Amino acid sequence: MTLHIPPHRPATPGAQAFLDSGAKKLLIANEWTDAAGGGTFATHDPASGALLCEIAEGTPADADAAVSAARAALSDPAWRDMKPSARGRLLWAIADLIEAHADELAELETLDQGKSWATSRFAEIPASAEQFRYYAGFANKILGQTIPTSIGYHPPGKKVFAYTTREPVGVVAAITPWNSPLLMAAMKLAPALCAGCTVVLKPAEETSLTALRLGELLIEAGLPAGVVNIVTGFGAAVGAHLTAHRDVDKVAFTGSTEVGRMIVGAAQGNLKKLTLELGGKSPAIVMPDADFALALPGVARGIFANSGQVCVAGSRAYVHRSIHDAFVDGLVKEAAKLRLGHGLDRETDLGPLVSAAQAERVAAFIDEGKADGAGVATGGERVGDAGAFYTPTVVTGARPDMRMMREEIFGPVITVTPFDEPEEALAYANDTDYGLAASVWTENLSAAHRLAAGIRSGTVWINCHSYFSPELPKGGHKESGWGYENSAQGLENYLETKTVCAVI
Ligand code: ADP
Repeated sequence: MTLHIPPHRPATPGAQAFLDSGAKKLLIANEWTDAAGGGTFATHDPASGALLCEIAEGTPADADAAVSAARAALSDPAWRDMKPSARGRLLWAIADLIEAHADELAELETLDQGKSWATSRFAEIPASAEQFRYYAGFANKILGQTIPTSIGYHPPGKKVFAYTTREPVGVVAAITPWNSPLLMAAMKLAPALCAGCTVVLKPAEETSLTALRLGELLIEAGLPAGVVNIVTGFGAAVGAHLTAHRDVDKVAFTGSTEVGRMIVGAAQGNLKKLTLELGGKSPAIVMPDADFALALPGVARGIFANSGQVCVAGSRAYVHRSIHDAFVDGLVKEAAKLRLGHGLDRETDLGPLVSAAQAERVAAFIDEGKADGAGVATGGERVGDAGAFYTPTVVTGARPDMRMMREEIFGPVITVTPFDEPEEALAYANDTDYGLAASVWTENLSAAHRLAAGIRSGTVWINCHSYFSPELPKGGHKESGWGYENSAQGLENYLETKTVCAVI
């Protein structure tokens, strides 16, 4: 299969102007500044390989400046004393601006990351706005408690009066991955701002553009200086420095389990609060009575959407033996329907992976599995001149000990394994160090909920996969992470509790 993708230009004047406006800078205290030392790095369109623009290569000194700005903003009356309803209005205004610029943001996201226009424009950019809307409503509903105590040793005639207040946790380092760049940033910024925190955002080096455009929109919305700072650059330099920084109070991280472990180590100096949303190897259990009309496209979307570069991607299907072969045939047909191409072409279903390096990594898993006896029912091909496309791939006969069954591939690759009894399916599903998500496909209500109860993961979907909303807590069990995003629980991660106990 050959695939020639010429360079694409955005259609909105805003996106083109953004790309043409020279090397992108860091945002520190609402000023756009060059990196200390003036270094830049290039960002490319993974579909065509074309250069998009240069980006400031932040250094530890820049991270220090951003942390100082965030620390100062915490006690700046413009932010500290902003009324909760005004904070809510500000979050709502950010959502409005994201929506008003949705076409432009979607084009930048697709050019930078590769994902299809439909995914950017109709899923992730609106979902980013929704994060700000959801937490806008929370800003004036953050409550403490008055607590009747049983303390009896107060002086006679006096009594104990105790209450709690909620305070922002402080300076947050938000470190985001490249798979859904704007959405991952929004999922951290919205609850952080709602709580009154200040933030240093470090977007993934592969995909910094929408975070930087969002920075412009934050200023336009009226966010006081220093409340959100953006330091672009590499994980080992900027990310590692922020996670070890003694003046950072909390790290909110989404990315690989490997880097998550490094952050746990780096954060120990001042015992930072951590929320970690890490890798996954999510199973999809297909029972013999599953509704094929629902399950086939559902399981296919669960793995192939965003070319499998989704932390909750349903990468391991366990299918009842009685329907295994028919299900594999069906998945092969679903894969064949997907048109590969440049994400900006409206008929494209699957764009490239984020980079040629990522496609190479995916190919290595498949080549190794094939050499070890796994079968490829469809796909398994790297295509495109720039080397970043990988065809949707269905693998059969993979063994549980193979690397492709144990490690997160982050590509459009699903393994299909037969099972006979539900207990066996559960044991397979739980045979992983990860515990992020799972789906169960059946028309049997009892079976569905029994399986949901038995699966060790943060989310279980029944007859659907990758259904998200800010109302639904999202987090990992086992080695898939610490803490939750979204919902009231997501806000908790950005708040401290202070107990005030008085004798009056
Ligand atoms: P992915 O598998 O999505 O590339 P990574 O975990 O490698 O995930 O990267 C996610 C984010 O973590 C990126 O912004 C990256 O720059 C950052 N990062 C990488 N290494 C480190 C590190 N040692 N410390 C802190 N952040 C890092």
